Amino acid sequence: MTVGIVGGGAAGLFLGNLIEGATLFEGRDRVGKKLLATGNGRCNLSNLDMDLGHYHGDPDFIQGVFQRASQEEVLAIFSALGLDLLTEERGRYYPRTLQASSVVNVLRKGAEERNTLLTDREICKIRKTKVGYDLEDQAGERYFFDQVVLACGGRAMPASGSRGQGYDLARSLGLKLTDIFPGIVQVKTEDPFLKHLAGVKIDGRLDLLVDGKLQSSYQGEILITKYGLSGPPILDTSRQAISSYRAGSKVDFRFSLLNGVTNFQETYDYVEEKTYQHFHKSLEDFLQGLVHKKFIHLVAKTLQVKRETLLENLDYQDLRRLWTLLSAYTMPMSGHLSYDQAQVTIGGVDTSQIKTNLEVKNHPGLYILGELLDVDGDCGGYNLQWAWSTALSAFKAIKKDS
Ligand SMILES: Cc1cc2nc3c(=O)[nH]c(=O)nc-3n(C[C@H](O)[C@H](O)[C@H](O)COP(=O)(O)OP(=O)(O)OC[C@H]3O[C@@H](n4cnc5c(N)ncnc54)[C@H](O)[C@@H]3O)c2cc1C
Repeated sequence: MTVGIVGGGAAGLFLGNLIEGATLFEGRDRVGKKLLATGNGRCNLSNLDMDLGHYHGDPDFIQGVFQRASQEEVLAIFSALGLDLLTEERGRYYPRTLQASSVVNVLRKGAEERNTLLTDREICKIRKTKVGYDLEDQAGERYFFDQVVLACGGRAMPASGSRGQGYDLARSLGLKLTDIFPGIVQVKTEDPFLKHLAGVKIDGRLDLLVDGKLQSSYQGEILITKYGLSGPPILDTSRQAISSYRAGSKVDFRFSLLNGVTNFQETYDYVEEKTYQHFHKSLEDFLQGLVHKKFIHLVAKTLQVKRETLLENLDYQDLRRLWTLLSAYTMPMSGHLSYDQAQVTIGGVDTSQIKTNLEVKNHPGLYILGELLDVDGDCGGYNLQWAWSTALSAFKAIKKDS
């Protein structure tokens, strides 16, 4: 049984460490380019908390894949390959070296020893034959296999090689795709003070509001940028925010201008009390010890009062606006950054066409892995765990057939 694997990213390389005698095609000059960038160069490859709520897509399909190829099995394979792991904050698994290059080197070496790796070889066409599949590369060279595995990734970080070619290959075989858009990505917001505030970080609570209703809350470091918002809570909330925004809803992000906030009402009461304690101070002197200095300009301009104005000279209406501004500031969403900055693609090959062993129902011998499918995970190692588990599940089926 001959096997061709299209894509030398996370899923393709992991499969290359399980299978033997296959041919792996990678469009770029090296395998695993995206993997090198994962987890800020440290590769957050899984998570202790494998609650399936961290995944988005058809829950039965996702559960079925993990039942066939569990996290424990995947971690045992990494251990057998000699890749030592550790867990860090929020249960995130990393290589003990804290270098993504260790993961790539271990996976590349193992895949090379067992299979033929062809780099700079982009597969541009796939045809079904009577006995298998016919692949054609960018130079027009053709290759015939009994079984083919598409592990082409999605569209996120196209510079790493995944530019959405897998969608074209899947479409050419008549497969249905769902709506595709960037995920785990920074958001654009409308705010008159963005340019002035760029670079300010706030550690605290972030609320996502859709059509004025609270959808979710996250805790962490929010970074204000010249285009909008970034930081872990923004990346965590981006999927829900972008889906709602694309559906035409009004999306807002709410956070306090004070650090360390978990509850906006308590913060309102707190700043109210503080105001009366420092009632003889100017607005500027009061804010100096409370918030990042760049927020002083925002507050004075929004209230339309001079910085030197004494708190005791503000009318009650202004004081209430001050407390609201400080405790729960709102920025409306106006878009999001592109696939160049995104960590994942939301959407992909519709999984109703795929078995939990990753074989395409109408195309025996054709398998689809990883991000190319309409499944995505939260930030925290879930997307790589999906890539590994899909590879392992497919391997079990391919092994059975051979
Ligand atoms: C900056 C960044 C950081 C991330 N950090 C994390 C993290 O810490 N933890 C986590 O879980 N997830 C992370 N992710 C997401 C994770 O990297 C991906 O979900 C995962 O790599 C997907 O694996 P894949 O094998 O499906 O696709 P990819 O890893 O994208 O690999 C696809 C490969 O196929 C090749 N290819 C595509 N089409 C063809 C073709 N036609 N012919 C030949 N070759 C082709 C591409 O060049 C590429 O090498 C991150 C993503 C990015 C962009």
